[in-house]
Amino acid sequence: MAILNFPEFTRDAAEVWAEIPMQYREQILSNVFCSRCRKAVEMVDYSGAMMKGDLLLKGKCSTCGHNVARLVEGS
Ligand SMILES: [Zn+2]
Repeated sequence: MAILNFPEFTRDAAEVWAEIPMQYREQILSNVFCSRCRKAVEMVDYSGAMMKGDLLLKGKCSTCGHNVARLVEGS
């Protein structure tokens, strides 16, 4: 699966992610802070998991490859 470069989500996380409007999902993925670039970057190769009711996205900075993460708060 890693070779396919495809987002991997847990079942719970996939359900939460699917309920978020696509426009907002793209906004989330294209606005992640990278501590190495010191600016908002696009997240690639991301995976998703639930953490205490919130969706945690983990991936890599599209610019430098540094690990980045973003928490999407549950409603
Ligand atoms: Zn970066």
